[in-house]
Amino acid sequence: MVAELIEGGPVAERIKTEVKEAVGRMPEPPRLVSVLATDNAGAKFYAGSQKKACAEVGIEYELHDAEKIGEKKDTAALQAYMQELNEDRSVTGILQLMPVPEGVDGRAVQLAIAPEKDVEGVHPANIGRLFYGDISLAPCTAKAVVTMLDDFGVQMEGKETVVVGHSEIVGKPAIVMLLRSMMHSPTVTCCHIATDDLAYHTRRAEVLIVAAGKAGLVSGEMVREGAVIIDVGINRVKVEEGGKKKTKVVGDVDFDSAREKAAAITPVPGGVGMVTTALLLQNTVECAMRQS
Ligand code: NAD
Repeated sequence: MVAELIEGGPVAERIKTEVKEAVGRMPEPPRLVSVLATDNAGAKFYAGSQKKACAEVGIEYELHDAEKIGEKKDTAALQAYMQELNEDRSVTGILQLMPVPEGVDGRAVQLAIAPEKDVEGVHPANIGRLFYGDISLAPCTAKAVVTMLDDFGVQMEGKETVVVGHSEIVGKPAIVMLLRSMMHSPTVTCCHIATDDLAYHTRRAEVLIVAAGKAGLVSGEMVREGAVIIDVGINRVKVEEGGKKKTKVVGDVDFDSAREKAAAITPVPGGVGMVTTALLLQNTVECAMRQS
């Protein structure tokens, strides 16, 4: 068996088209502010893709650099800045880019963002809604996982579903979202760093979701024949191709061997990441609508 690809591109395009139409119907475009508190290259790259994606759908985007804000490099100062943004009625969405400088409590800073401006869906008020099946403002990556399964038409009812990784932004909210409908619930197992025999669990999975941040953690041998695999991992690894050393982005699943066994699999890159970005835009519109 060679697995079908569950590509992120078409799903992301559909979401962006819907977002663009929604923005077009609004009296004023949403205005998203991202706060950058470090010199981290990854955070800057992420900010660049946010800016580009916002421009595509008509959302106003601003990057507020800590350097320009002034003394915003400790928890209290960043929280106070979030409070200022909360009170600014022209700002409809806020996010704190990670990582934050050493010694800053990034989570405390995120909690200072008003729930109705929390485009990443990480405030306890928004996380709490997930428990009652409302995923309209959910953490983007976890929402991307369930969106891709829905879009691909995977029938989840009673399916043996294994989630590898239990982080607060991906694994845990994905599990809650998978269980959001009592009528169509899969049977979900959560694996993590302390799981004794990971392969025992992954081999049982009809739907396998991997979000561990470990390149090649799941090999083809660990995959059940005919499984649907959502690979959330993004890992930069050094490889040698044609005698040249390169850096390559790969997932947590060994794509080539897993593809031989699975029925369908997301590629990395080109899978979950694209949908995550599109859902950040969707969340930004949702926030703006909650304030209108
Ligand atoms: P994290 O480090 O916060 O959590 C990792 C999780 O994996 C933990 O629950 C840990 O217990 C588990 N884990 C680690 N090693 C394991 C092992 N050997 N066996 C079983 N479980 C193990 O990471 P995160 O923020 O949840 O991100 C996970 C991955 O998803 C990373 O590669 C990250 O880059 C990627 N990611 C992708 C997107 C996207 O848009 N595609 C967004 C966010 C994160």
